[in-house]
Amino acid sequence: MKAVVFNGPYDVSVEQVPDPRIENAGDAIVKIVAAGVCGSDLWTYRGQANVAAGARIGHEFLGVVTELGDQVCGLAVGDWVVCPFRFSCGECDFCTSGLPSSCVNGGFWGREAIDAGQGQYVRVPFATGTLVKIGDSNSAPDVSLLPSLLTLADVFPTGVHAVTQAGVTKGSTTLIIGDGAVGQCAIVAARRAGAGRIIVLGGQHSDREQLAKQFGASEFVTERGAEAIAAVLELTAGRLPDHVVECVGTAGSFDTALQLARPGSTVGYVGLPHGVTLDLARLFGRNIGIAGGVAPARKYIPELLPEVLSGAVEPGAVFTSTLTLDEAPLAYQLMDERRTIKVLLTCPE
Ligand SMILES: [Zn+2]
Ligand SMILES: [Zn+2]
Repeated sequence: MKAVVFNGPYDVSVEQVPDPRIENAGDAIVKIVAAGVCGSDLWTYRGQANVAAGARIGHEFLGVVTELGDQVCGLAVGDWVVCPFRFSCGECDFCTSGLPSSCVNGGFWGREAIDAGQGQYVRVPFATGTLVKIGDSNSAPDVSLLPSLLTLADVFPTGVHAVTQAGVTKGSTTLIIGDGAVGQCAIVAARRAGAGRIIVLGGQHSDREQLAKQFGASEFVTERGAEAIAAVLELTAGRLPDHVVECVGTAGSFDTALQLARPGSTVGYVGLPHGVTLDLARLFGRNIGIAGGVAPARKYIPELLPEVLSGAVEPGAVFTSTLTLDEAPLAYQLMDERRTIKVLLTCPE
């Protein structure tokens, strides 16, 4: 079968790799129908993630079950499934208490598991605990829903996690830092949580501003640093936002988040931290909390799935390009150069 392989900085290619086989009784083999390219894949692509050349890549996928180990429960060959960005057993203390991202048996695609999510097939360990059924052989999901269903693998639950951790309330003014796929999904999530006014701090890319407004952003601020803080306070007549949601993970974005955090509030964060150090003294005097981290996507998927299937939310609009698996090198280039927000790779036979 074919799969995307990381060869070194700015070099990915589609290579022939061995077909996956059932190795443990809890495994499933899934034929991938659609896979996402993630902002976090770009850290690997740019050589900033300490990933060895030759590694497989990708962690967002949905598809059809083609083979099941003897001990997999609740799934049948032919079922349509979506898979979270980390596999998890479904049985340990963390899985059963709502934090499958800390599963003691779990791991990441392409690392603890050899297979990754950008390829024709994947072996899924702990299939019972990991996969979520989205249709069966008699009722495949409508093709128009596939992009939104694919966001369940990562960016939509990640946005929901940030908003949940920030405690976004009905009618509130919520500030979202970041206009990438996760920031965009946080807008959907904040709208879903009933935020009255959503201010987004983003960059100067009109496609991102347009999508943010489509998702329900009230205002979009393109300044950075001190100017961004001034611009937000001008919009709010000097009042700090009720909630701040951080979806970038840089020192600069965290600094902005803390400066705009309202006393007594909790900053929700899901941006993978890069070079961020936290000075607790800055939080102490104003009773600022920080909550978030790697999203327990597997916990959120069953809750979000009915809303995606009914069309109540349409986070799939974050996929601003669709390419085939063979075009993966172009997909990475387009995302690296910010010429598209997020790419959906289709995996034809
Ligand atoms: Zn991702
Ligand atoms: Zn577990």
